[in-house]
Amino acid sequence: MKTALITGASRGIGNAIALHLKNQDYRVLGTATSKGGVSKLEDQGIEGLVLDLNSSNSKDQLWEEIENKELKISILVNNAGITRDNIVLRMSDDEWQDIMNVNLNGTFYLSKKALKMMLKLKWGRIINITSTSASVGNKGQSNYSAAKAGVEAFTKSLAREVGKRNITINSIAPGFIDTDMTQQNNGVNIDELIKEIPLGRFGKPDEVAHLASFLCSEEASYITGQIIHINGGLYM
Ligand code: NAP
Repeated sequence: MKTALITGASRGIGNAIALHLKNQDYRVLGTATSKGGVSKLEDQGIEGLVLDLNSSNSKDQLWEEIENKELKISILVNNAGITRDNIVLRMSDDEWQDIMNVNLNGTFYLSKKALKMMLKLKWGRIINITSTSASVGNKGQSNYSAAKAGVEAFTKSLAREVGKRNITINSIAPGFIDTDMTQQNNGVNIDELIKEIPLGRFGKPDEVAHLASFLCSEEASYITGQIIHINGGLYM
């Protein structure tokens, strides 16, 4: 049975991916930032682990726990992500740095660690969750867009480095998906936003999870280094 690690699995897109993989008989480990989030995961039959990607200690502790349990991660979904919106002129260093720590540096840290296991297993999948904003930019999200664009460039470079080792690296770039993240809309008019989406609605976490579980499968073995957009036609 293959073991998958999904960051930010306690809510939204990460939770949907974790549940999809669990239903397909993968062993699924999911992270949350709090013990409460870990309990919620355990109630869903997912092995919960605490991880705060803004803390070096927390990252190291997570990896120590994985090694102590002698787990062999063959699928990594770098899903955890946050926003700290502000226009550049008002953006604090912390608002910039927190976004880099969680959205970009966390992806590097975990990918490097998990890759060592995948190399030994001679098989691996890394799926990074990015965003449409990496391609088009977004007013008030220079930090978030820059981090996600960084993850997309990382995806392509790493895919070139490890392709011959039977390890694929891809990004999924969602548009607007109905989760807690899009509930904090900072005064944006949702009805106006929806008019811009050809399919006329936000996406569902489950719709992203279907794509992620396909990318984990054997059927997706010839897909690597790709940024796959899922956005109802918002960006094409
Ligand atoms: P969400 O509902 O806000 O859930 C975020 C998840 O990340 C939670 O499980 C949360 O854990 C975890 N998390 C938050 N801060 C963390 C930290 N410091 N360290 C580790 N984990 C942390 O978000 P979502 O909408 O599902 O987004 C998932 C991914 O999709 C993100 O990378 C996001 O950027 C991307 N995305 C989302 C949309 C969208 O429209 N929703 C669009 C494009 C891209 P806790 O439950 O413990 O807080």
